[in-house]
Amino acid sequence: MNHKGLLVVISGFSGTGKGTLVKEIMKKYNNYSLSISMTTRQPRPGEVDGREYFFTTDEEFEKLIKEDGLIEHAGYCGHYYGTPRKFVEAELEKGKDVILEIEMQGALQVKKKFPETLLLFVTPPSVEELEKRLRGRGTETEEVIHQRMMRAKEEQEYIDKYDMLVINDDLDKCVTEMHDIINASRFTPDRNKKLISDIRAQLSELK
Ligand code: 5GP
Repeated sequence: MNHKGLLVVISGFSGTGKGTLVKEIMKKYNNYSLSISMTTRQPRPGEVDGREYFFTTDEEFEKLIKEDGLIEHAGYCGHYYGTPRKFVEAELEKGKDVILEIEMQGALQVKKKFPETLLLFVTPPSVEELEKRLRGRGTETEEVIHQRMMRAKEEQEYIDKYDMLVINDDLDKCVTEMHDIINASRFTPDRNKKLISDIRAQLSELK
C-alpha cells in the first residue's frame, strides 16, 4: 500500500461555503491537515495572519515564486494566492491527508504536478443561492460581489476537469459525503501503483 497521505483539492465558486465545509471536516475527523495559503489580498474583519492565510506583499510573493516555494499559485480578482510547498510535502510524508482549499487554475496545476491528487468541486444548489450567500457574508462590496459572480461564470467551464462533485445544501451531509469520497478514492488503481506493480512482478515469476 501507499503509505503517504492523499492530496485533496477542494474548489468551488466564491461563496459556496467551502471555508465552512473545510473547517467542519477538520473538526469532525482527525486525519486531515489543512494547508494555509499565502495571499496578497487584505485580511477581512476577523481574519488572523497565519490562521486563515499568511498575508503578504506582492514583492514577497514574487520572491517565493522564484524560489519555487509554492506548489501552485494563481491570480484571483486582482490578488495573488498560492500554496506553500514545505508544509504540504512534510504532512504528506507523515501520512496525513492534506486539504488545499484553492481555486481552479491552482487546482489544475496541482493535478498536473501530482496526478494522484483528488479534485473535489463544491457547488451550491443554484446560482440564486450562490449570490445570496455572497451577499449574506456582509463583508463584500457590490463591486466585489459582481467580480466574484463573473469569475464563477468563467470557472464553470472547468467543472468537468474535477474528479468528484458535491452539492453544499446541507452542511453535515456534505461533510460526510466529502469524507466518504476521500476514503473511497484511496482504492483506485492509480493511487495504488506500487501495490499493483509488486503483484505484477510476483505474478510474472510464476511458471
Ligand atoms: P478568498 O479571497 O475568498 O479567501 O479566496 C478567493 C479564492 O482564492 C477562493 O476560490 C479560494 O479557494 C482561492 N484560494 C485560496 N487560497 C488559494 C491558494 O493558495 N491558491 C489558489 N490557487 N487559490 C487559492
